Amino acid sequence: MITSQQDLLIRLQASEQQASSGQSANYSKSWFKCLNGQRPVLVSAPHACRHQRDGVEKMAEEFTAAFARILAQQTNCHAIFTTNKTTEDPNWVLRGEYKKAINEMVEKNHIGFLVDLHGMTNRHNMGLAIGTMRGRSCPGVDIKSVFLREGFALTDIDDLPPKVARKMAVPIGANKGADENENWRRLVIDHPLFTGGLRNHTVTRYATEELGISAVQIEIASVARIVQQGKTEDWPYEYSGNTKAITACVRGLCALIEENS
Ligand SMILES: [Zn+2]
Repeated sequence: MITSQQDLLIRLQASEQQASSGQSANYSKSWFKCLNGQRPVLVSAPHACRHQRDGVEKMAEEFTAAFARILAQQTNCHAIFTTNKTTEDPNWVLRGEYKKAINEMVEKNHIGFLVDLHGMTNRHNMGLAIGTMRGRSCPGVDIKSVFLREGFALTDIDDLPPKVARKMAVPIGANKGADENENWRRLVIDHPLFTGGLRNHTVTRYATEELGISAVQIEIASVARIVQQGKTEDWPYEYSGNTKAITACVRGLCALIEENS
């Protein structure tokens, strides 16, 4: 088990640094990694590095590979995550190398549940957006309770404050006021922007429809995911998320994996 919040944050940061130091500026033949465990659950992070969608380069979703690694260590589940820039968007293409690897891992290890991790910005005023394809991707699985136990609050989409405009989006810091620092607690299920794959060829949809297993897509806001990050080409601010939010998120994910295997 995770011994302390401090220990968890240090391990996440180290894991992310290891991941980002391996990222080259160029495309590489090897761009994702599979870790095998004993527990029949697979955690996936398909957007951990820069990727292309229909030829347009998209940002990396920082710390999602670090989350996948830590969850695999903590729960002994299997993990797959990107390790390098790629022209394939595994959450967009119908098939592809990443989905093929998932198929092989699921068959070989009798995996019955897939958790697909993504990163969203804080502009949506919520900490977690859980996509279940309106319940179709994981019928009978209680996704929310593990997070509610950790301090997240189930929120109706109608109760969300309006999305922050891109040009107004600055990191949530201690100086931004207590109200904003509590935004991370909001958890929305099947937000129209994050349904898990009603229209697109997501990893979640692939797992559900092609592999016949339960799956869920979990979008984690920066505030609940990024321990500490310097300025990048995508985001010209140094940024640290909320330690309480990050810890609650990891603990909730560990429980989700342990209780559904
Ligand atoms: Zn994503």
